[in-house]
Amino acid sequence: MEFAHTREAAFLRLEEFEKKASRYSSQRNHVMPGHTNVSRLSPAIRHRLITEKEIFEGITKRYAFSTVQKYVQEVYWRRYWKSWLALRPSVWTDYLRDLSEIDPCGQALDVMAGEGPVDVMNDFVRELKETGYMHNHARMWFAGYWIHTMKLPWQLGADFFYRHLLDADPASNTLSWRWVAGIQTPGKSYLARRSNIEKYLDPERLDTHADGLEFLENGKAAQLEIPARPKTVLPERGESTMNNEKRTGLLVHEDDLSVETVFPNLPIASSLLVELNCCASEVKREWMTKAFDDAASRMPGLVLRASFSRKSLVEWVENQKLEQIIAARPEVGVVNDRLEEMTKDLGIEIIYRDRVEDLEFLPFAKSGFFGFWKKIEPLLKGRLEG
Ligand SMILES: Cc1cc2nc3c(=O)[nH]c(=O)nc-3n(C[C@H](O)[C@H](O)[C@H](O)COP(=O)(O)OP(=O)(O)OC[C@H]3O[C@@H](n4cnc5c(N)ncnc54)[C@H](O)[C@@H]3O)c2cc1C
Repeated sequence: MEFAHTREAAFLRLEEFEKKASRYSSQRNHVMPGHTNVSRLSPAIRHRLITEKEIFEGITKRYAFSTVQKYVQEVYWRRYWKSWLALRPSVWTDYLRDLSEIDPCGQALDVMAGEGPVDVMNDFVRELKETGYMHNHARMWFAGYWIHTMKLPWQLGADFFYRHLLDADPASNTLSWRWVAGIQTPGKSYLARRSNIEKYLDPERLDTHADGLEFLENGKAAQLEIPARPKTVLPERGESTMNNEKRTGLLVHEDDLSVETVFPNLPIASSLLVELNCCASEVKREWMTKAFDDAASRMPGLVLRASFSRKSLVEWVENQKLEQIIAARPEVGVVNDRLEEMTKDLGIEIIYRDRVEDLEFLPFAKSGFFGFWKKIEPLLKGRLEG
């Protein structure tokens, strides 16, 4: 199973998949061999080899909005989660704090090793480790099993996913786990039910891995403490002005690997790709390296690559005699945290730029997804008419 790791491959995959988009709504929940009923574009979208806007523009050029609406809506779930977290960054720091206080116990280690009591879940673990992917419905089942059947801490499960998923995304992952746990939408938790798995999982896979399904009957939701809802704060995201006379470096990170489309036609002396691969599985590291190779081939100026460290950043600034750095704004999450550490007191200005659509949609994530969608749908449709 291939996951597009270049910008070109992501556009080609979209064209191939969109022929099935009219059936997406009725088919997407089925977990089938090869996952041909879903786009498998999430690693590429997560790392912005292709953006939500490019998907919307591409697919609606060829198909009516009503035909592809469900798919477009799903694509914008990611932007919703990202915007939701950007308005409440303490949810991310609380998650990291909680995670650092958890010691993985024997049962958690067994489940992560694919040696838990429900064989189909063990098979999902095997697939995750071998491919870096798990279907959305399987992610829901697995997280429900982890939290409500095995009574394991959701933060540890989220971290397990984060280390293996090619599309590991601080917002989509953390907030989806919170949702399954019943914390994101208080009163609503998600339990993995035997009957639901039997309805949606490929029958052959179900037959081969039927042991332990009885553990998923008559389950009860774990009663977790609901943390106080943080206040929503709209972050300041003014545009700093770049000085075109200064010698400029372009810093590229994994939150946006098509950064040349954020800063088109700018005079760049050198680009530095910083690669953050710590704690990731081998499969994920391999995919990321290929995606970085592709990004490097599109970067302007002298292109250098380095690990995510302050030392490499300082050397780059000095060796290239840079006077300012520009970068796509990192999202709330790991990249942002590391960049904050790396760039403290660097003695040179870093100018972060947002994509216009991200800024436009950010304030709409004040409450649930459908409120967000209600605000962005007319804007998206307006673009079709304009
Ligand atoms: C517990 C749990 C953890 C998750 N962790 C992640 C994660 O770390 N990274 C991640 O990208 N997604 C995560 N998701 C969301 C979703 O499972 C994946 O985005 C989806 O499986 C991607 O596969 P696809 O591209 O084939 O999906 P498609 O069905 O083809 O969807 C198209 C695109 O829409 C977006 N999308 C679809 N469903 C969702 C969703 N539920 N939430 C947010 N965006 C969505 C993705 O960008 C996806 O590529 C998680 C879901 C759950 C339940």
